[in-house]
Amino acid sequence: MFVALALACVAAFATGVGPRPAGLGWDRFYDVVLIGATYLFATGACWLAGARVRTERTAWRSLALALLLCTVGNSVRTWSVGEAGMGSYPILADAFSLGGYLTLYVTVVVLIRARVARFHPSMWLDGIIGALGTMSVGVAFLIGPYLTGTGERAPLPLVELAMPTTDVLLLALLVAVGSILGVRFDRTLLLVMAAMGCVLAGDVVQFARTVGGTYADGGPLELTWLFGICLVAVAAHSARTPRPPAQDPDGHSRVGWRLLALPLACNVASLVVLAVGWGDEMPVMAAWLAIGCVLAGIARTAVTFSEIRSLHEVRQQARTDELSGLPNRRALLEGAQRMLDDATAARPAALLLLDLDGFKEINDSLGHHAGDQLLRQVGPRLGEALGDGELLGRLGGDEFAVLLPQTSLDDAQARAERFRELILQPFTVEDIRLHVGVSIGVATAPVPAATVAELLRCADVAMYAAKSTREGVHVYVPDPDGGTGDRLRTMEELRTALESNQLLVHLQPQTALHDGRVVGAEALVRWQHPRRGLLSPAELLPAAEQAGLMRRLTDLVVELSLDAAARWWPVHRVPVSVNLSAANVTDLDLPWKVEDALARHGLPAEALTLELVEDTLMADPERGRAVLGELRRLGIRTSIDDYGTGYSSLAYLRHLPADELKLDRSLTADVDADARAAAIVRHTVALAHDLGLSLVAEGVEDAATAAVLADLGCDVAQGYAIARPMPVPDFLTWLATPRPWLLDAART
Ligand code: C2E
Ligand code: CA
Ligand code: CA
Repeated sequence: MFVALALACVAAFATGVGPRPAGLGWDRFYDVVLIGATYLFATGACWLAGARVRTERTAWRSLALALLLCTVGNSVRTWSVGEAGMGSYPILADAFSLGGYLTLYVTVVVLIRARVARFHPSMWLDGIIGALGTMSVGVAFLIGPYLTGTGERAPLPLVELAMPTTDVLLLALLVAVGSILGVRFDRTLLLVMAAMGCVLAGDVVQFARTVGGTYADGGPLELTWLFGICLVAVAAHSARTPRPPAQDPDGHSRVGWRLLALPLACNVASLVVLAVGWGDEMPVMAAWLAIGCVLAGIARTAVTFSEIRSLHEVRQQARTDELSGLPNRRALLEGAQRMLDDATAARPAALLLLDLDGFKEINDSLGHHAGDQLLRQVGPRLGEALGDGELLGRLGGDEFAVLLPQTSLDDAQARAERFRELILQPFTVEDIRLHVGVSIGVATAPVPAATVAELLRCADVAMYAAKSTREGVHVYVPDPDGGTGDRLRTMEELRTALESNQLLVHLQPQTALHDGRVVGAEALVRWQHPRRGLLSPAELLPAAEQAGLMRRLTDLVVELSLDAAARWWPVHRVPVSVNLSAANVTDLDLPWKVEDALARHGLPAEALTLELVEDTLMADPERGRAVLGELRRLGIRTSIDDYGTGYSSLAYLRHLPADELKLDRSLTADVDADARAAAIVRHTVALAHDLGLSLVAEGVEDAATAAVLADLGCDVAQGYAIARPMPVPDFLTWLATPRPWLLDAART
C-alpha cells in the first residue's frame, strides 16, 4: 500500500517535470490519482508519526487531517473543472482546502508550544504583536493591491485570497511568534517550515497568475506543492519526541535582542503601514491589523513596565528588614562589598557593629511588641547622624551595622561614640521611658580586614570586647599572637574541646551558715585551652551559646560533676550543683539524660542540684516549667540562681518549682554597709522560707558579711571567704580536711 503510494508520488513528480498530455481524462488522473496519492502518502506518514511520537500526537494528527482535507478539496476541484471551466472553482472545493489550511494552525501552534520553555503573559503579547504586525504588512503590501483593486482591475473576492493569506499567516506565526517566544527550531520544525515555504511559493505564484489570467493547470509549478508535501512526509517520518525545553524559572532563556527586537520591528512596521495608508489607498483590514499591533505593543510596554517594577520591588523587599524598614543583612553585605572594593590603605572604610544592651530584658519584661517598637525607633534616631553614602542596617535581633566609606579608624571611633550618645538618650516605648545601652565594635578595611567576612568578624570581636568590658565602644586592633578573643575561632575550637577532654570543672563548696557544715559544691566549667591556658566561663560560654553547643556542654558538665561527686558521695553525702542555661531548660530530653547519668554513676537523685537563672525560663516558660517539674519529680533539686539581678520578682517565685534560692553577689556584697540591701535580703529570706525554699548567699568574700547574712536568716554561704573554686582533686582534699568554721573563727 505504502509502496504503491510512493510509486504514485514518483510518477506525479515525473509528470510534473515533463510536458503534460492534454485532455480532461488525463487531468483528472493526474490530479486525483497521482497528486492525491502523494497527499495520501504524506497523510499516512503523519498519522504514523502521531502514533509514534505521543507527545506530539495532536500536531501530527491535525497535519494528517489537514492533508486529507486538501486532498479532498483538490479532487473535488479537479472533478468539477470539466463542467465549470477554468478559474471559477466551486465553493465546496474551497471549503475543504480552507478547512485543511485552518487545521494547519493547530499543527503549528502545538509544534511551537512543545518547543517553548515557558509561557508568560508578555510572551503571548509578543506573539500577538508579531502576528498582527506581519499580517498587517502582508495585507497592506502583498495582498492589499488585489483587495482594493487598482486602475483597470476590479477588487478580488476575499475567498481568492484565502490560500496565500493563510500561508503568510502560518509562516508569520512560525517565524515571528516562534522566534519571539524563544522556540527551539529543531529538524522537525525546520522541515515543516520549509514545506510551508514551498506551498506558499506555489500558492502565491498561482494566485498571481490567476489574477493576471495566465494560470494554466500543470507544469513545473505543481512541483512546489509536490515538493512541499514530500517535505512534510520526510518531517513526519523523521519525527522524534522533542527534547523537553530547558526550564528556566525566570524566562532568561530568551536571548536578549530577541526579547525586544522583533516586537519592536513589528510595531515599527505597523506604524509604517499606518503612515503609508494615510496617504494611499490601503485595505481597511491592514489598518486595523496595524492598530491592533500598536495597541498590543502598548499593552506589552505596560506589562514590561509593571514586570520591571515588581522585579524592583522584590529586589527591594529582599534587601529590606521587615521590622525596622532599614536595609537588611543582605543589603549590608552587598554594601560592605562595594565599600571594600573602593577602600585603599590610604582611604580606609569602616564598619560599626552595634548591639543593644539589655534588649532581651526589655523583650522579656515588656513583651515582644515593646521590643519591636524599640527596634523601630533605632533607625530614625541613628539616621540623623548618617552622612552621604553611609548605610545603616539591621543585621538581625538587636544588632545593627553602619557602613562608613572613606573613614579612618579614629574618625570611625568618634562616629561610634556619637551613635552611642544618641542611643543612650531615653526611648519611649508604650509610654514608658527606657534607657538602653549599646556596645559598638569598630573595624576597618582593607587593613586589617581584607574581606567582608573578615570585616564582620573583626567588628564582632570588637563589639564583644566592648560588651564584656562595658566600655561601650571598642576598636578592633589585631592581636599580634593570632587573636585571643576571636570568637569565631573559639567556636570552632570549642567543638574539638568538647570531644577531647579539654573541658573540666572546678568545684566551690557551699557551707551552712550556722555551723559551717559543707552542704553542697557548685561545679563551674573551665576550659584547658591548648594555647591560651585555663579559660573561664566568661571566655567560653558566649561562644558555646552562639555555636549552639550549650546542650552538649551541659551534658558534659553533668557527666564530669557526677563523676566527681561519685567519689565523695559515699562518705560526705554532699550534692553537686550544675548550672543550666536557657538552651537546657527547654531541652525536653534533659530529665532522662540526667536520670541516666545519675544511674551510671550509682548516685541517687538528691546528689544533684540544677541551678538556673529565672530569665532562662522566659524564652519558653511553659516548656521550662515542664522540664523543671519533671526534674523535681525525679527527685533532683532545683535552684534559682543569681536572684536579685535582672527582672527577678518575688511574685514570680511562687510559680517556680524550686528548692533553693541563690542571692546574687550584688545583693550580698553590701549587706554589712547598706541598710537597703539588708532590708531586701531580710524580706527575700522571709518570703523564700514561706515558700519552703532554702536560701544561699553567693559571693561571700569576708567573715563580716557572712555574719550579717547569718543574722538576716540566710541558710547557706558560698564565696571566696570559704573557698575559691578548685580542681576536683583539691576539692576532695579540702573536703577531707577538718577546719574551724569561719564564724566561730571570727568570734573567737
Ligand atoms: P555563678 O553561677 O553565679 O557562679 C559563681 C561565680 O562567682 C563563679 O564564677 C565563681 O568563681 C564566682 N565567685 C564565687 N565566689 C565568689 C566571691 O566570693 N567573690 C566573687 N567576686 N566571685 C565569686 P565563674 O566560675 O567565673 O562562673 C561565672 C558564671 O558562669 C557562673 O556564675 C555561671 O553563671 C556560669 N557558669 C559556670 N559554669 C557553668 C556551667 O557549667 N554551665 C553553665 N550553663 N554556666 C556556667
Ligand atoms: Ca550558679
Ligand atoms: Ca550565681
